[in-house]
Amino acid sequence: MRGAPERAVVYLADAYRATSDRPLNPQHIIATEKLARVVDWAGDHLQAISLIGEVIDWDQARQRKLALSTDYYFRGVFNLGRGEFQTALADFNRSRALAPAGVDPVGSAFLDLQTCSALIELRALDGARAACQRAEEAFGRYGELAQAQARLLLARISNLTGEHKKALDLLNGLLANADALSASSSAPEAYRLRSDVNQRLRRTVAAYRDLDIYVRGIERQRASEQMKQNAVLRARLDADRAAARNEELRQKLDLSATRERERAKRESILVGAAVIGLLLILTILGMSVYHRRKLTRIANTDPLTGLLNRRFVSEHERLLVSTHTKTGDSLALAIVDIDHFKAINDTYGHDGGDQVLVAFADVARGALRKDDVIARWGGEEFLVIFPRASVAEAVGALFRVKNALAAGVSTAGGVVPVKFSVGIVCCRTAERLHTLVQRADEALYRAKAGGRDRIEIAELCSLPITANDTLLLADDRRIGAAAT
Ligand code: GH3
Ligand code: MG
Ligand code: MG
Repeated sequence: MRGAPERAVVYLADAYRATSDRPLNPQHIIATEKLARVVDWAGDHLQAISLIGEVIDWDQARQRKLALSTDYYFRGVFNLGRGEFQTALADFNRSRALAPAGVDPVGSAFLDLQTCSALIELRALDGARAACQRAEEAFGRYGELAQAQARLLLARISNLTGEHKKALDLLNGLLANADALSASSSAPEAYRLRSDVNQRLRRTVAAYRDLDIYVRGIERQRASEQMKQNAVLRARLDADRAAARNEELRQKLDLSATRERERAKRESILVGAAVIGLLLILTILGMSVYHRRKLTRIANTDPLTGLLNRRFVSEHERLLVSTHTKTGDSLALAIVDIDHFKAINDTYGHDGGDQVLVAFADVARGALRKDDVIARWGGEEFLVIFPRASVAEAVGALFRVKNALAAGVSTAGGVVPVKFSVGIVCCRTAERLHTLVQRADEALYRAKAGGRDRIEIAELCSLPITANDTLLLADDRRIGAAAT
């Protein structure tokens, strides 16, 4: 600071600003205290007082007594600079009350020195003298150059109390060793004072000589004062320029950050919209697939029994029949018709009839192989396709159904005995569904005509049998006892 005060102002002002984010930190307080001292040195006492106020608040909040003592000392000095002597005195008293005695003797000597200054201005000369004497003594003990300051003040007091001779002695002693004084830049002040004392002692020539030295000294001091002020002004300008530059930079950064945020926001909105759109499309597609499947299922399913319906079988002839008959695999097809169903309806009601249909469907499903297909062909008629099966195998399955229904079907109206007739057909060559059904129908007709409760095998397979038969047949034309 002594070497380049203007730079000290710039750095400290920067440090002050850079650390002023809330909550405040210790670095900021250090910068604030130093800045306060440097702006006071530059003559801006009010600013210095306001800055040191921040430091006082900080230290007070943390009960830092020793630090507070120093803070009040500085505020007292700043107040002295402003000419607020009473306030300065109060600060010095606070400072003294907070500093434990003996901890910092040089510090308390400075406190005495400043107190002395304030008291002189307030014309409390006894108190001033006591304070200055304490300071002078202490400074003497520690070889402190500030002893000259204390002596200068004591000379002032003596001059004010009419002890001109005493003042002259003190000043002569001081000015004989001008080094100590010039270090505190109080030399002109000492000459001015001695000139005054000499005048009072009617030593006019000496008074003029001192006055001349004082004037030259003060001119030099003014010049350096001017330089100091210029330097501080320049420093402020630099600091402001740096601050403006920083602010501009910060604004630019803020702006680009804002732009970046907005861009990201726009992008995320677009992405969000795209995702929503996609989800919507997928949902619609999914729904339509789901609905289509549902509609297809509804269209292909018999609502009462849950079996496939005639329409499905007709529409999927290729899949169900042609693929098998073409390959030369044997395929059996049966039409099952419940016997005297009208009578069941009549006896057990339409609901009872429905229950019989449902029970038949369930039993049949359970008795068939995985690949067999059963559909409700109409009313109480069912179509069963047995791919890659011999007639014997088909008859075996139908016997399992018959056995499962032997105990009848339980309905609300009682147990319904259920019997059925079957027309069955087999083929090994390509044959269309409708001719297969036609031949099976003919066989069924014969089963009905033959007394019902029986399985009739179509012409090609020959040999009519009843469900109660236990014939063992060597090929598809003969039904095996194993079927029971
Ligand atoms: P047959 O032994 O000669 O087959 O005589 P049947 O009484 O079983 O045959 P018919 O064709 O004379 O009567 C079939 C009856 O089935 C007539 C119809 O009212 C009834 N029916 C058709 N569909 C349903 C249905 O979904 N539920 C009920 N409960 N009855 C139905
Ligand atoms: Mg019928
Ligand atoms: Mg019938």
